[in-house]
Amino acid sequence: MNFPIAIVGAGLGGLTLARVLHVHGIAAIIYEAEASADARIQGGLLDIHEYNGQLALKAAGLFDAFLGIIQPGADAERVLDKRGDVLFDAPDEGNGSRPEVHRGDLRRILLESLPADTIRWGHKLTTVSSTGDGQHVLTFANGSTATAGLLVGADGAWSRVRPLLSGVQPAYVGTSFIETYLFDGDIRHKATAEAVGGGALLAIAPGKGILAHREANATLHAYVALNKPEDWIAGMDFSDPTAALARIADEFDDWAPELTAFIRHSETAPVPRPIHALPIHHRWDRVRGVTPLGDAAHLMSPFAGEGANLAMFDGAELAKAIVNRPEDVEAALAAYEEDLFPRSSATAAESDRNLRLFFDDRSPWSVVEFFAGHRMAG
Ligand SMILES: Cc1cc2nc3c(=O)[nH]c(=O)nc-3n(C[C@H](O)[C@H](O)[C@H](O)COP(=O)(O)OP(=O)(O)OC[C@H]3O[C@@H](n4cnc5c(N)ncnc54)[C@H](O)[C@@H]3O)c2cc1C
Repeated sequence: MNFPIAIVGAGLGGLTLARVLHVHGIAAIIYEAEASADARIQGGLLDIHEYNGQLALKAAGLFDAFLGIIQPGADAERVLDKRGDVLFDAPDEGNGSRPEVHRGDLRRILLESLPADTIRWGHKLTTVSSTGDGQHVLTFANGSTATAGLLVGADGAWSRVRPLLSGVQPAYVGTSFIETYLFDGDIRHKATAEAVGGGALLAIAPGKGILAHREANATLHAYVALNKPEDWIAGMDFSDPTAALARIADEFDDWAPELTAFIRHSETAPVPRPIHALPIHHRWDRVRGVTPLGDAAHLMSPFAGEGANLAMFDGAELAKAIVNRPEDVEAALAAYEEDLFPRSSATAAESDRNLRLFFDDRSPWSVVEFFAGHRMAG
């Protein structure tokens, strides 16, 4: 066994890896840039799929805890046009195949399942160097250093570990999200809350859309999506939230007011989230003592709804590979990567197809057909 096992990043992927190792009696240390578990609100609902995310939670021994955090009814889906007319409306299937949970709740059950000293908060990795014998020396922004016998990059889109394996950087996909919130929707934003219904709303037109979800306490959480060049979003002045929201609202000037309320009446400063992805077939040659998982390995646009599911699944699969071959970790990493490449390529291709379909010239009908087909396929 290559000790110590150092995981960089306490996102869903890194935490799942540490937890599954822990279940099998193998210790790991997670180095996380954020100062504490509460340093940032972990927003958004995630649907956790039967064939990957849920399997990872079973491997982690946390399936019952997961059942306890499901948001009932949140898997309902509606597609609207820009006038607010409902074109597709499907209730939560309630069959457990892809229930919705809050990302923060999911992260909490993973955090609570690990020994308290597993995570070194406030450790932002700045540089990594190879010692040449499969070990790596990590240097953190707080001045400390650590040596890793096995290094796992679970540090997300802009991974500091990935460059040890691949020179490829994520590229902008042509779509930017702007994140907004309305609170107490049923009382304070009634028309918008009614438009959203019990689950997800997708109001779409060619090149733009409003993708929203009802969360606990009638919080209405939206990603306003625009197909724009990267310098358009980079050039917007988000330090003046009112002006930024007005500028974004201009792009939706002929949309129904219950939809544009997400922009005009946002109760939080808008947060720009330009969407980036790694190439669909991103892969690398084996490098001794190091491997990535989750977004660090296969960042993709969120249009297949799989990124968090895959990150957890990667974490569980990597742990299982190590548990199965503790005497030969290199063979374990090779086996893990051999499965990872086709799995992530297939999903990255699906994300890419969906991204195009969502905002193409036939939208919103392309999206209606997509959801209708999905529901029929189960
Ligand atoms: C708008 C949006 C909506 C999405 N919706 C969905 C969805 O509905 N369903 C779904 O499955 N996926 C969704 N995703 C994708 C999902 O969020 C990611 O794929 C998932 O979070 C990846 O998990 P991860 O553990 O690999 O990385 P992350 O969640 O990014 O975690 C990485 C961790 O590493 C830490 N870190 C980063 N750099 C360093 C460093 N240098 N040193 C130490 N620590 C570091 C970070 O602080 C973080 O805690 C969405 C993504 C976006 C942008």
